Amino acid sequence: MTTAPVPESRIYRHLKCGGDTTVSGDSFEFASNPFSNMSHTWCATCNGFFRVAEYEWSDTREKITDYYARHGSRATPFQRFVCSRSIGIIGMIIGLVLGLVTGNFLFLNQAQGTRILLTLFAGFVGIMICVMSQTELRKLIARRVCGVSDSRMLT
Ligand SMILES: [Zn+2]
Repeated sequence: MTTAPVPESRIYRHLKCGGDTTVSGDSFEFASNPFSNMSHTWCATCNGFFRVAEYEWSDTREKITDYYARHGSRATPFQRFVCSRSIGIIGMIIGLVLGLVTGNFLFLNQAQGTRILLTLFAGFVGIMICVMSQTELRKLIARRVCGVSDSRMLT
């Protein structure tokens, strides 16, 4: 583990228009993690989202997809499986179902309209909890696989 400071932002270039976009904060953490399964990202010049394959890091001129492949390649098949898109979707469905079931019982004594609304809200909370846990899990795996305390330190 290195003790170098975590960079706050990084710039990527959209190959089609040549425009640079600075990514920082949570978005940077998400974009820098090879296990995030990021499929599309923002271009400030085009004002739109495009496939990650259309971008490179401006400083290293490495395509972001190559960067993901390079840093992700050391993961075991199990780590890759845990971070996969399909597991992410299954996790969200489980979160939704658990939230709906919990909400349904929790608000049993409410009037029907209120109960439906609260139950839907509980389902939404279930999804959010699962998405957040998956994000944390992916950060944890990135730290273990890549040997850095934060994926933003990867170049
Ligand atoms: Zn662009």
